[in-house]
Amino acid sequence: MAHVVVIGAGIGGMTVAYDLRAELDKKQHRVTVIGDKDIFEFTPSNPWVAVGWRDRKTTTVDIKKSLGKKGIELIASAVTKIDAEQNSLTLMNEQSVSYDYLVITTGPKLAFDEVPGLGPHNGHTQSVCTLSHAEHSFENFKALSKEPGPVVVGAVQGASCFGPAYEYAFILESELRKRKQRDRVPMTFVTSEPYIGHLGLGGVGDSKSLLESALRKRHIKWITNAKTTRVEDGVMHVDEHDDAGQVIRQHELPFKHAMMLPAFKGVDPVAAVEGLCNPRGFVLIDGKQRNPKYPNIYSAGVCVAIPPVEQTPIPTGTPKTGYMIESMVTAIVHNIAAELAGKEPQETATWSAICLADMGDTGAAFVAIPQIPPRNVTWFKEGKWVHLAKIAYEKYFLKKMKAGSTEPIYEKYTLKAMGIKRLKSEG
Ligand SMILES: Cc1cc2nc3c(=O)[nH]c(=O)nc-3n(C[C@H](O)[C@H](O)[C@H](O)COP(=O)(O)OP(=O)(O)OC[C@H]3O[C@@H](n4cnc5c(N)ncnc54)[C@H](O)[C@@H]3O)c2cc1C
Repeated sequence: MAHVVVIGAGIGGMTVAYDLRAELDKKQHRVTVIGDKDIFEFTPSNPWVAVGWRDRKTTTVDIKKSLGKKGIELIASAVTKIDAEQNSLTLMNEQSVSYDYLVITTGPKLAFDEVPGLGPHNGHTQSVCTLSHAEHSFENFKALSKEPGPVVVGAVQGASCFGPAYEYAFILESELRKRKQRDRVPMTFVTSEPYIGHLGLGGVGDSKSLLESALRKRHIKWITNAKTTRVEDGVMHVDEHDDAGQVIRQHELPFKHAMMLPAFKGVDPVAAVEGLCNPRGFVLIDGKQRNPKYPNIYSAGVCVAIPPVEQTPIPTGTPKTGYMIESMVTAIVHNIAAELAGKEPQETATWSAICLADMGDTGAAFVAIPQIPPRNVTWFKEGKWVHLAKIAYEKYFLKKMKAGSTEPIYEKYTLKAMGIKRLKSEG
């Protein structure tokens, strides 16, 4: 009998747990999820939470019930230590858990501390990275709405997740228009990307023109190659660079409301394991999603190490998005099943990007196969249908988490909404 333990009950962890339970013999093998809470939060809804279009109730799932129904044990206590040599974990509640296979899906540690004054706890900027951050940001937005003033939205140096920054800028803009307050809110988008629409992916199709045009149409100014050097109460200090990385202009941007995405790192107990991670604390994996030093440790999602698509004047990382995570999870499940059957793991993830970015009342969708250019497929389109497809994606994902279904959401719904029948070939 094998015990497979999954750390982290987010998009990757919940999906891998349901798929493992469906794939592995229930009588022979145990599957346990260790999360730091007993709810699942659907992170892609957070930009909507930050303007009051969604709330905690509509974007979370009670996972004790859902996992229990499927025969998956849940321990809601954070992992504080991983002893990879002894195949054992220590939890916040001082419990010890041993495993035969470990799947690490702990998402990001948010590196607000890398920019003085950044972040919602010890700084002056908001975040939509977690549900509680988005709730906090909504309170700050309400204050803006009472007393309108300038807004800054964007992503700092080292960030890898740019989509939600664009989403939030457009969603906020749309909500301000609805409130007839947009005329009193000058908006600036500040990003470490070398150009608008780079997205940490070297651009996707004509994402540059499309997103520049979308910002222009909405009168949102932008600063690219931007390094946010510090944030004070109501003022953001930003150095703008040229393509050679030289400072060409220093900005002092006043704001009433600012939402800046931070750089990501790996969470502490994962980063602390000798030989498991790269210097930023992201889990090193081979083509089969396995750690080279500890082959019974697999990993998926934002916590895995992926090199940047290209070097940029101001550092940027590569995003790890839902479709890619879904494919990493599928590879892990087949590979653990193969190992338990005494076979060599064979499956590799596709590492392609398919995304729906909401823009409030319209949206932009893109497909990048493979993720790193040059590509076989690049596709980028804008339209109201993307806004509707994103609502459908949220609905189906939450339904899947509640029911413990193993339906591949991207293959089944998102691609269909894009008018793509099925990705026959990733190559
Ligand atoms: C605001 C935002 C919007 C996004 N929108 C999209 C989108 O629309 N489409 C898309 O494809 N991608 C999107 N992404 C990117 C990506 O799909 C999400 O970040 C996704 O949540 C990543 O899944 P994950 O499982 O890797 O990490 P997470 O979903 O963050 O899950 C990690 C879990 O591990 C838990 N954890 C951490 N440390 C421990 C510990 N020590 N012990 C136990 N548990 C722990 C965390 O609390 C969390 O529950 C978005 C990202 C952000 C930040």
